[in-house]
Amino acid sequence: MILTDLPEQSLERFGEYPMLYAGEREVTNLELQDSANRLANGLRDLGVQPGNRVVVCMPNCPEVFIAYQGILRAEAIVLPVMFVLHPREIGYILQASGASAIITSQALLPAMEQATSGMETPPKLVVAGIAQNQPSPNAGIPCHSLCSLMAAADREIQEPELKEDDIAVILFTSGTTGQPKGVMLTHRNLYSNAAAAVRLAEESGDEPGTTLGVLPLAHIYGFTMANTLFLRGGSMAILPKFDVRMVCEAIQKYRVEAFSAVPAMIYALTTAPEVEEYDVSSLESVGSGSAPLPISLIEAFRKRFNAEIYEGYGLSEAAPTVSAHRKNETIKPGSVGRAFPGVEVRIADDTGSPLATGEVGELLVRGENITPGYYNNEEATKAALRDGWLHTGDVARLDEDGYLYIVDRKKDLILRGGFNIYPRDLEELISRHPAVAEVAVVGVPSERMGEEVVAVVVRNPDSEISEEELLAFCQERLAKYKTPRQVVFMDTMPRNGVGKILKKSLREQVAEQVEIE
Ligand code: AMP
Repeated sequence: MILTDLPEQSLERFGEYPMLYAGEREVTNLELQDSANRLANGLRDLGVQPGNRVVVCMPNCPEVFIAYQGILRAEAIVLPVMFVLHPREIGYILQASGASAIITSQALLPAMEQATSGMETPPKLVVAGIAQNQPSPNAGIPCHSLCSLMAAADREIQEPELKEDDIAVILFTSGTTGQPKGVMLTHRNLYSNAAAAVRLAEESGDEPGTTLGVLPLAHIYGFTMANTLFLRGGSMAILPKFDVRMVCEAIQKYRVEAFSAVPAMIYALTTAPEVEEYDVSSLESVGSGSAPLPISLIEAFRKRFNAEIYEGYGLSEAAPTVSAHRKNETIKPGSVGRAFPGVEVRIADDTGSPLATGEVGELLVRGENITPGYYNNEEATKAALRDGWLHTGDVARLDEDGYLYIVDRKKDLILRGGFNIYPRDLEELISRHPAVAEVAVVGVPSERMGEEVVAVVVRNPDSEISEEELLAFCQERLAKYKTPRQVVFMDTMPRNGVGKILKKSLREQVAEQVEIE
């Protein structure tokens, strides 16, 4: 199956119905298909060729769905790019991918001007929200109006000739460590993972209902959420950004029962006082992935919403889901659930040999969902794909029931005086302190110990807890070698577009701030 089949499958199974709600707008699955066909024709008219890369960079809105399907129908490759990136980062992705066009929104034109400046053959700009072609505001770059492009291309579509192993998407990972790499995903990778998610949802017996599109559609979780919607039925209320009031209003208006989120969103919803002003009683569950979910947060969320959290684990390279908790099965807080149907997991030592149940090692994954490699980067591909397995770089263990536990990122492991310290262990503990809103533990270089442990803490607004008090809290509960040497207080954590803490930049910031022998 290929991704361009999705709208047709939706229409065959469910007929025409309003699939997307965005503010006052309603868009049906048939309208999406028609618009995507016109966009495919329009992109061809602009000179986009099969195999070309086309960037989609805008906040969540129905046009993102149209752009994804339109690009694929033109036999080109989708490059979803998070609009919150710095123009310099967007410029890097444009150069590295050799993109031939960008589909964006009017508000992002200054960023696109900056991102393309100095490029010899800049990508063509297609802009949503402008009625006719016009020059960009500062640099005068020609902008093609998305709606005029589609209006002029209202004719029969040339049926795409795509195969399951063709590349559908290239995702430049958000670069929490080093330069972003372009993860290539095929139609087979994405379709198989979305279909597995839908099968599990259908087996749970739940009706699809209306869900929330609050995760960025430019992230792999959001991209898959869009694919799943076509297969599963139901509707999605699309939000242009995460905002507690917007989320609560949408839950109340559409009687939302379930949606997917990331821990930073779950934290905000659990702690924001304004939630009390809304009727959010329809909410039954939230799916969480993309970053560790502290057990203390699971407990607080359950109490506040009287709803369940299903934590899962995935990565762009796995299109994305590797494991998840399932409805009607035991939930084990701290675990990321069992492997998805069709996905095999293995815990291995440094030579790739399997370890016994309960032992901690690198998580390897294989299945139809695994990427064929990184775009134009053979070295990285060889390092990640060895002996038929994807080496995730995550350290994990499996229990006797097949539940997976992510211990940490291999790269975040702290090596202190010959001991391995997993920051996540300490983060779990420190986050239980009532004065702590958020915590991240990092290793900083130390002449004496190789690395030293530093806890970075965001205090709760009403707390004035001191470094000494927090250190004492840790000393009472942790082995001496693991106890942080220092606590650094910050107002906010540096985060990427899906709210993941940027540990690399945090390490650098902290190393400059602290004095350690
Ligand atoms: P990305 O490709 O941007 O989705 O990032 C994937 C990475 O996010 C994984 O390799 C993990 O390190 C991390 N990750 C995803 N889900 C979880 C989770 N539930 N718990 C801990 N880390 C996670």
